Amino acid sequence: MTKEIKHIIILLPPYLVYGSIIALCLRWASQEFSTLWIAATMVGGWFFWTLVEYLLHRFGFHELPGRPLAKRYDIHWIHHRLPHNPKHIVTSLWLTLPLAAVFFIIFWAVGGGSPLVGAWYAGFGIGYLMYETIHYLIHVRPHPPFKFLRGLWKYHYRHHFQDDSRYYGVTTRWWDYVFGTA
Ligand SMILES: [Zn+2]
Ligand SMILES: [Zn+2]
Repeated sequence: MTKEIKHIIILLPPYLVYGSIIALCLRWASQEFSTLWIAATMVGGWFFWTLVEYLLHRFGFHELPGRPLAKRYDIHWIHHRLPHNPKHIVTSLWLTLPLAAVFFIIFWAVGGGSPLVGAWYAGFGIGYLMYETIHYLIHVRPHPPFKFLRGLWKYHYRHHFQDDSRYYGVTTRWWDYVFGTA
């Protein structure tokens, strides 16, 4: 099997599952709202994802009280020990599905069940898929496919090889500046 096919097979499950959910959510939103409303709400959902990405990486994987990373036998610890092993980069559906359900329920409750929740969730889901894709590529390709992504590559390598108590953002860097971990 060529390397490329292996990469596609590894990334396929989240794309199939969340791609379908995103499509359903957009269909739901489009029954009542215009494209402009949907697009603007999606941007909000994506932006919220970038915050969740930061918080989950920092507090879910690194700063869990009483459990320093180096002593934990967990998925993120394995990823830090074997950063370029493609098997340990993409988050398992068994972990993301329950989280995805919790987030959906929260958004649904806050949004009062409005179909715009579907647009928000679609933006949030696209942010998540962007995260998995970029994070995966950062580890399997030493050079980014586009020059403008170079900064993100360097930034995540710093998190892995320089200081793993900083540089938590993967697809964006702004929350590290906001919370003082840049
Ligand atoms: Zn990584
Ligand atoms: Zn980490």
